Amino acid sequence: MRIVIDYDLCEANAVCCRKAPEVFRLDANDNLHLKIENPDESLRPKLEAAVLGCPKRAIKLVEG
Ligand code: SF4
Repeated sequence: MRIVIDYDLCEANAVCCRKAPEVFRLDANDNLHLKIENPDESLRPKLEAAVLGCPKRAIKLVEG
């Protein structure tokens, strides 16, 4: 599984960072970063919560 962020949509509100802090990080300039691009399957529940929680629908999980 791979995480794809649409940075044009992201409004840096940190919802995903709260749902899955292992994966998402906002820097001091409010730019979103991925700590891991190909997360372990064990993180899937947290990632799905981040996808659903993102108010901008900016996060996608791509299989494979
Ligand atoms: S939840 Fe969505 S809009 Fe908010 S920081 Fe994460 S990707 Fe960006």
